[in-house]
Amino acid sequence: MTRERRAKLNGMESAGQGRQAGGTPRAALAELLAGNRRFVSGQPIHGHDVTAAAATASGDQQPYAVVLGCIDSRVPLEAIFDQTFGAICVIRTGGHVLDRAVCGSIEYVVGQLGVPLVMVLGHERCGAVGAAVDALRGGERPGGSLAHLVDEIAPAVLEVGLDDPAVLPLAIRRHVRRTVDALRVDDLLAGPVAAQRVAVVGGLYDLATGEVALLDPT
Ligand SMILES: [Zn+2]
Repeated sequence: MTRERRAKLNGMESAGQGRQAGGTPRAALAELLAGNRRFVSGQPIHGHDVTAAAATASGDQQPYAVVLGCIDSRVPLEAIFDQTFGAICVIRTGGHVLDRAVCGSIEYVVGQLGVPLVMVLGHERCGAVGAAVDALRGGERPGGSLAHLVDEIAPAVLEVGLDDPAVLPLAIRRHVRRTVDALRVDDLLAGPVAAQRVAVVGGLYDLATGEVALLDPT
């Protein structure tokens, strides 16, 4: 076995420590962030080949985290956390806006699959938050279901204030916090969160460096 291969396998062992249904939120978060460090350092261990799919094809899935992120094509969640098949559940909507389908999906993952960690991941230069800023500035609410996205993001923008020169980056952070807060009081999540069996955390992805920073570092 080559040194490189051995190092890779050792990395995979340590990368599996948080990988158990019913594990702690802390272990799950450490696992997720370790994957992001591998990604940022250019040393991912999961190449997403078909053998990874086959390895998880039999038996039940046992993901250890669920990540809710934006649809932005520059923020592929499995890649930026260097996660393989079966490791995390991923939900993506414009500006990680919640609706009943999103909340129901998270409730399922936490309640039925025993996942201890929910991460809401915003990102710099988010177009959805930018669209809400523009809509509020122009006083024009978009049509269709796009209005739902703007309506859900608008409170974060207004809390920061349209006059703030840094309204976009500040509203992006504010909107992550609001999304985290909403999930913490969700009907089926509030109990496990209060009992500290489940954690809901907010993060921010830096498009330039690939780094994920927690809004409230633990
Ligand atoms: Zn976005």
